[in-house]
Amino acid sequence: MTPLVLTALAALAVYAVTCWLWPFAACRRCSGTGKRRSPSGRAWRPCGRCNGSGRRVRSGRWLAELFRSERP
Ligand SMILES: [Zn+2]
Repeated sequence: MTPLVLTALAALAVYAVTCWLWPFAACRRCSGTGKRRSPSGRAWRPCGRCNGSGRRVRSGRWLAELFRSERP
């Protein structure tokens, strides 16, 4: 195996472990606050992307759950 492949595999392994330990990341639209501010900055409504929770499931975790649910 070439060093490039080994590095890619190591990076994938590290990413898999971090997705397992920290499955959530801050929502990109509201940056983790769960609120969407009006242009005035005083009024707000719950963020529609994360339903006000302020978090999103990381793509690695999402893939793992997809894979797990498709197996019988
Ligand atoms: Zn959000």
